[in-house]
Amino acid sequence: METEVKTTCPYCGVGCGVIAKVGDDGRVSVKGDPDHPSNFGRLCSKGSALAETIDLDGRVLHPEIAGQMASWDEALDLVAEKFADAIEKYGPDAVAFYVSGQLLTEDYYVANKLMKGFIGSGNIDTNSRLCMSSSVAGHRRAFGSDTVPGTYEDLELADLVVLAGANLAWCHPVLYQRIAAAKAARPGMKIVVIDPRRTMTCDIADLHLAIRPDGDVALFMGLFEHLIASNTIDQNYIAEHTGGFAEAFAAASALSFNQVLELTGLPAMQLREFYRLFATTEKVVTCYSQGVNQSSSGTDKVNAIINCHLATGRIGRSGMGPFSLTGQPNAMGGREVGGLANMLAAHMAIESAGDRDRVQRFWQSPRIAAEPGLKAVDMFRAVADGRIKALWIMATNPVVSMPDADAVEAAIKACPFVVVSDVLRETDTTRHAHVLLPSLGWGEKDGTVTNSERRISRQRPFFDAPGRARADWWQMAEVAKRMGFPGFDYLSPADIFAEHAALSAFENGGNRDFDIGAYETTATAEYGALQPFQWPQPAGATPKLTRFFADGGFYHPDRKARFVAIEPPAGNRTDSRFPLTLNTGRIRDHWHTMTRTGKSPRLSGHIAEPFAEIHPRDAIEIGVAEASLVEIESPHGKVIVRALVTERQARGSLFVPMHWNDQFAAAARIDAVVAPVTDPLSGQPASKNVAVRAGRF
Ligand code: SF4
Repeated sequence: METEVKTTCPYCGVGCGVIAKVGDDGRVSVKGDPDHPSNFGRLCSKGSALAETIDLDGRVLHPEIAGQMASWDEALDLVAEKFADAIEKYGPDAVAFYVSGQLLTEDYYVANKLMKGFIGSGNIDTNSRLCMSSSVAGHRRAFGSDTVPGTYEDLELADLVVLAGANLAWCHPVLYQRIAAAKAARPGMKIVVIDPRRTMTCDIADLHLAIRPDGDVALFMGLFEHLIASNTIDQNYIAEHTGGFAEAFAAASALSFNQVLELTGLPAMQLREFYRLFATTEKVVTCYSQGVNQSSSGTDKVNAIINCHLATGRIGRSGMGPFSLTGQPNAMGGREVGGLANMLAAHMAIESAGDRDRVQRFWQSPRIAAEPGLKAVDMFRAVADGRIKALWIMATNPVVSMPDADAVEAAIKACPFVVVSDVLRETDTTRHAHVLLPSLGWGEKDGTVTNSERRISRQRPFFDAPGRARADWWQMAEVAKRMGFPGFDYLSPADIFAEHAALSAFENGGNRDFDIGAYETTATAEYGALQPFQWPQPAGATPKLTRFFADGGFYHPDRKARFVAIEPPAGNRTDSRFPLTLNTGRIRDHWHTMTRTGKSPRLSGHIAEPFAEIHPRDAIEIGVAEASLVEIESPHGKVIVRALVTERQARGSLFVPMHWNDQFAAAARIDAVVAPVTDPLSGQPASKNVAVRAGRF
């Protein structure tokens, strides 16, 4: 009998609702869910091709130890024994989990609970570190909480949408469609794109600012100064709801307009036009994504943007506010459960003794991580130098996606004990696993995800688990039990979701931004029928809150937001040996390391092979012709890809997509070239500004 299941797309942070239809013959077709309030039936090319990516080719269908088939008991016993052994000999910080924004919230919750509450280490970090950790750090500095204030509707209601370091047309396509439709209906709406590249998103832009790499801090400091000089600031709002204005003003005033021109590389006329538009438009939303986050000054960029919204009081109201767009389907869910090395759970702070005590009492755990653990780049350094003796990697492929990827591969290879939970048997990372555990894929998984507008939606299964594959949360709970830990007797993801909701409300959850206490008694049937909802949802609260900070109250102890005084960074990393700036990113039709989208001929038809976009004059200078091969090299590694000569690329820079790996093209793992430089606060790698050299291959 034909069945229809409402679920959620597993790709980007837009978090579109999907209806999967399974026919009598077992064939699957997908369409957008018209009732889902994030996409209203729309899907992009990746979402539309989901049915082409769910066959069992290449799947790992049973546990393996050293490449040989094993039973679950054998594999789980070995994992528990090796982790317990490393902890006993070297302490809890000798083990680590490296997890993923692809995990469902329930998986993430169990991973965080096991590592922080029972093993007693903060060493759980995630590939979301590479995605949005600068936004987390910026939010916490400004708001006292990791809160995205607005909703997608604000992007349609705004009169000015600023897209900073965000190629929405390719990376958040359904959001792009929503903005494009709003602009078509209301042509007076203005769009400004801030991006060193002239991306497809510029098709709807009224103004494109082709900024220098990492010029964003100076750009928004200049805007802040302009808002003050033009008397656009909201003095009452600043006085009543914020602190730190004078210091931020002094820092911004130290930067002259000419310095802003120099640091941004923008023509004065364009800069003035942007400042005028922002100053004269009340309803402004500033969206930012990886071009802001993936930077050694990522946190400062986020705060430079938020400073401008706080100064004008344009936050928490319809059609206005700063808006971080997450790259992954469940980066937000991971943040909610505390699945970053420097977070706790339910947005509580690992640095706070009171919060640690609260979480420990809720979990009734024997211990709690006393301090933040290692962030992704540092975690793999610790693997490399032997501090980490046992590593569990879940739902991610760091040998392709981490900066300095060759060094990461060498570290994993040398680690005494590596567990990998994945759906595929052969990836660049699984080949180094001592124990390989078969996980569930999209269409089999059962749980929840949170998208960029704080909307929690269900991912529902429409297939039985293939072979002996099991959920990630189940794998971790079984290992926890084998290590002798209580509190992991979950029968279903509904049990975990209810516990997560109860923790969010435990002891005045309402004093924190993340509170979904309304769901703390969710039973299996309710969980099955759960409709998409935005947090917060405290127990008994009516009416429901859709925007944060509407009342001007924030989450610092004095309930005031903070301006941050910022210094502009030196953006240029190039020198005579490495004179070009490499920028990495996504293309429209592939996802991450292509382990799923690489299966779809339709998706691979858009762009068939890895490439480097290069400006025509740079191409002449280094002797590279259109479609010839170009070698790109840094002190860390090199790739050989096809040259795509285009004026979309600024002079002195290259763009190479992040997706390709050794499975799909030899010598095209661009993250092998990316230096492991990180933001000092967030630990997020600077993948958009890497000094390289290039030449004809
Ligand atoms: Fe999936 Fe994102 Fe496309 Fe929506 S926009 S269908 S969530 S990839």
